Amino acid sequence: MELSQKYDGKVAVVGAGLVGCLASLALAQRGYDVTVVEYRQDPRLEDTTDRNLRSINLAISARGIDALRFVGNELCEKVLHDMMPMKGRMIHDIDGRQKELLYGIANEHINSISRAGLNCDLLDELDAVSNIDICFEHKLTRIEWGDSKQVCHFVQNKEPMTFDFVVGADGCFSTARSQMQRNLRMNYKQEYIDCCYIELYLPPRKDGGFVMAKDDLHIWPRGKFMLIALPNADGSFTVTFFAPWSQVDSLVKSKQETKNFLQTNFPDAMDLMGLDSTADEFINNPKGPLMCVECLPYNLSNGSAILIGDAAHSMVPFYGQGMNCGFEDVKVLMQLLDKYRGDRSVAFNAYTATRHEDLVAINKLARENYKVMSESVTSVWFNVYKRIDET
Ligand code: FAD
Repeated sequence: MELSQKYDGKVAVVGAGLVGCLASLALAQRGYDVTVVEYRQDPRLEDTTDRNLRSINLAISARGIDALRFVGNELCEKVLHDMMPMKGRMIHDIDGRQKELLYGIANEHINSISRAGLNCDLLDELDAVSNIDICFEHKLTRIEWGDSKQVCHFVQNKEPMTFDFVVGADGCFSTARSQMQRNLRMNYKQEYIDCCYIELYLPPRKDGGFVMAKDDLHIWPRGKFMLIALPNADGSFTVTFFAPWSQVDSLVKSKQETKNFLQTNFPDAMDLMGLDSTADEFINNPKGPLMCVECLPYNLSNGSAILIGDAAHSMVPFYGQGMNCGFEDVKVLMQLLDKYRGDRSVAFNAYTATRHEDLVAINKLARENYKVMSESVTSVWFNVYKRIDET
C-alpha cells in the first residue's frame, strides 16, 4: 500500500516475530529505512535448528485482522489464507457429551491460524519490500542511547549498527526494554501465574478429515486444569493442557499415573489422541510458563525508542489476545505518527498517554478468562442441562 505521507529516518525493529514483522511493513510504507534484527535463524530455512516451540496455532480475532487490513487488504488476504473460523466453544464433559456455546448470534467467530505459517508469510512480505533489510542471527545485547543516534550492539562479534530510532518488538524478555530502563524511569511489573502449559497433538483422520467439529474451539474444563484444542488446516488439532505446576510435576514422575490421569479426566479426547502416545508427549514435551508483563511508559520521550507487542505487555493466553493486541499496537502507533506528521517525540508520548489503560484492561481480562474457560463454562452448561431436566 502506498501512502502519501512519507517520513525520513533509519529504524531498527528488534524482533522478527509476528508483531515486529507487521510493524516493519507499516514503517516501511511510511518511507522509513527499516532494518529488522532477529536473534533466531530464518524460520523458513529447511534445516533451521531454531524452531519456535511455542503453540503451533493461535486464535486471530477481529482486533488483529483489522490491524492487518490497516497495513494492507491484499496483505491480510494473503497471510490469512489458511485460517480456520471457530464459531463457538465446544465444551466436552467427563462423560463425552458435547455442548456448543456460540460466540455470537450473528455468525461472529474467531479463527485458528498456524503461528509458524503466519510468521513465515509475513517474512515473505518483508522480503518483497525494498526499504526493509532483515538480519537474522543478530541478537541485540546493548543499545548506546544518544540525542539523535542510537547504536545497537549484537552478540558474536556482529558489527554495531546505528539508527535514528528503535522499535522494541522482542517479546516478553525484551532486551530493548531492559536497555530503555537504563535511560528512563520506567515502571515495570512481571508476574508468573501458577500455571504450566504443555502442547499435545491430535492427528487428522487417515483420509485427512477432522475427527471433531472443525469450526469450534474445543474445551475440556475440569476446574483447576483444562485441555483445549484448536483446528489446523491439515485436519489435525493443536491441543494444549493447562494446570498448576505442582500437579504437572507430580504427574510426570510416572507414566502410569499420567495415563490414569488422562484417561480419567479426558476419556473422549484420549480415544482420539491415543493414550500411550499422549502420555509420552505429556511427559517429554516442553513445559511452558505463563507470565504477565506491564510497563510504563512505553517510549523514550525524545522519540528514540518505543516498545510494542509482548515486549510492552505480555499477557496470559486465555483471552487469545496477545498477538491481536500487538497487531493493534502497530495500527495505533501508525495512526499517531500520521496524525503528528512523523513527529516521533509527540507521537510516541501520545501513544503512551492513550494506550496504557487499554493494555492494562486486556491484561486483566486475559487473567480472568482462565476461570471462565476452566470453570464457569461448565456451570453454564450444567445450568442448561438442569433446565432441560426440569422441563
Ligand atoms: P514474540 O512472538 O515473542 O517475538 C519476539 C521476537 O523477538 C522473536 O522472534 C525473538 O526471537 C526475537 N528476539 C528476542 N530477543 C531478541 C534479541 N535480544 N535480539 C533480537 N531478537 C530478539 N495470542 C493471540 O493473539 N491469540 C492466541 O490464541 C494466543 N495463544 C497463545 C498461546 C500460548 C500457549 C502462548 C504462550 C501465547 C499465546 N498468544 C496468543 C500470545 C502470542 O503468542 C504473543 O502475544 C505474540 O507471539 C507476541 O508477538 P511478539 O512479536 O510481540 O513477540
